[in-house]
Amino acid sequence: MNASNNSHNPQNYEILIQKAHLIAIEFMNKAYCPYSHFQVGAALIAESGLIIGGYNIENSSYGATVCAERTALWSALTQTSERKFWGIVILTNNETPTPPCGLCRQTLIEFCDLSLKIFLGNKHSLKQFGTLGDFLPFPFDPKQLSTSS
Ligand SMILES: [Zn+2]
Repeated sequence: MNASNNSHNPQNYEILIQKAHLIAIEFMNKAYCPYSHFQVGAALIAESGLIIGGYNIENSSYGATVCAERTALWSALTQTSERKFWGIVILTNNETPTPPCGLCRQTLIEFCDLSLKIFLGNKHSLKQFGTLGDFLPFPFDPKQLSTSS
């Protein structure tokens, strides 16, 4: 987790993205993935400018494995007071960008707006690939529960 003094100023977002990229690289290098050896790093960018990192944590049971996106989100929720998120950086060592899995998309929709920006890449490059709404169109979200009566 790294604090940043950047504000909502749009000019600062480029700096925030660069910082989040570096943090995601740092976290990707710490990934606990002795089974797949597939390192993933994530950096969640809060609207305040705070950047919270995460990495995948595998388990010998396989089913108990948690993705980097979700460890970043759990850290944000449990270790900070951040509840509004602007974007997320997701890195692997692959040449081709690796999108978040369905479970992570569904988890992100619980706490993030559809406008959450999703940046994918590796340690050498990073690019925005749309928003959470693009990755999870027609989502089941908390609002669905309130419409049933
Ligand atoms: Zn996932």
